Amino acid sequence: MTPHRQSLLDRFLRYQAIPTESISNGGKAVPSSRGQWNLALLLEEELRPLGLTDIHLDDHCCLTACLPQRGEGDFPSIGFCCHLDTASIGGNPAPHPRLIHYEGGNIVLNKGKEILMKAADHPELSPYVGEDILFTDGSGVLGADDKAGITAVMDSISHFARTTHPHGSVFLAFVPDEEVGLRGSKCLDLSRFHPDFAYTLDCCAMGECTWETFYAGTVTVTFTGVPAHPMNGKGRLVNPLLPACELVHAFDPKETPEWTEGKEGYIWCRELQATQEKAILTIQVRDHDKAHYEEKKWRIAESVWKMAAVYPKVNVTCSMEDSYGNIADAMTEDNGKALDFLYEAFAEADLTPRPFAMRGGTDGSYLSTKGIFTPNYFTGALNFHSIYEFLPLSGLEKAAEVTRNLILLTGKRKS
Ligand SMILES: [Zn+2]
Repeated sequence: MTPHRQSLLDRFLRYQAIPTESISNGGKAVPSSRGQWNLALLLEEELRPLGLTDIHLDDHCCLTACLPQRGEGDFPSIGFCCHLDTASIGGNPAPHPRLIHYEGGNIVLNKGKEILMKAADHPELSPYVGEDILFTDGSGVLGADDKAGITAVMDSISHFARTTHPHGSVFLAFVPDEEVGLRGSKCLDLSRFHPDFAYTLDCCAMGECTWETFYAGTVTVTFTGVPAHPMNGKGRLVNPLLPACELVHAFDPKETPEWTEGKEGYIWCRELQATQEKAILTIQVRDHDKAHYEEKKWRIAESVWKMAAVYPKVNVTCSMEDSYGNIADAMTEDNGKALDFLYEAFAEADLTPRPFAMRGGTDGSYLSTKGIFTPNYFTGALNFHSIYEFLPLSGLEKAAEVTRNLILLTGKRKS
């Protein structure tokens, strides 16, 4: 193993060992879990000796810093944003990773628990035969989402602290709670993170990149009925479950996540909590196209009011909240150069870009709505949010190389 690969591996394992899973039902507090502080504090300590300015860890566990411009020139400034948390899938938040030289075939993730990763079920393994890969022990997510991103960024920053290449200002943001509704980036103090454009390193196999994400929102419909004892319920009892269930069936059954793909949007009745008195239905709305997204929200509102008319004794309220937007819509002639930079950084790393429209969002989806155009590129890891998550070291190495190339490019361009 080359010294650089070994140092990337050591760095990743250092971050991976800290449990940082976010908790979706942990209330509105940011961060949602204590472990995220431990990782933020470690990163803060590692940034201190590297000559960065404005290192700041705020009350919401958002860590920001800036590698100041080096050299004379009107260089563009650039930003990198990664998330501290890992997705909660109900397993061990920091499983023991295992480095395996993959020779093909099935992988025994855990002998004792007989957890097997079958090559036939996981064709995404096949391009990595002959490579060194980090796997989980089958007890939880590896956490390469997004600690591989943090590793690539921290590695690059420490590289530039030791060299004298000219470059523009590099803004860093490590934020909590991306996995639970981008809550961390929404708390980010943008007076501390204001590059000309930025990138997230979050998801995907080597070469993949995206700047098209969903418009996303949540609709909450509350039905309040009248509870009564069933023995004398006639004419009194008003059951809130009836309109709630009817509303679930009011939408096109093929306009759902299980029937749509690519750039098709959906309406997803995701959760129904009910008692005799109250039923609360949570609906997620997603679409890449702003007009279609708004039309879907309008259609939901219409259905809700129709249902309210059918059940006049049920009190119906409906609230809508937008979560994030499509990164592509934040692109301007000026900040669009972030894509030229990305393609050039890929080319210099001998990589063919594989852009795709993401059926989801990143911290960049929020930052872009705030005017910081923030495309996303790969960390090299695959199978996020799963015990089958794995990280080929070649992919991590390339993610770090692209990050270094991007910083170098700022020193060769005018802003
Ligand atoms: Zn992620």
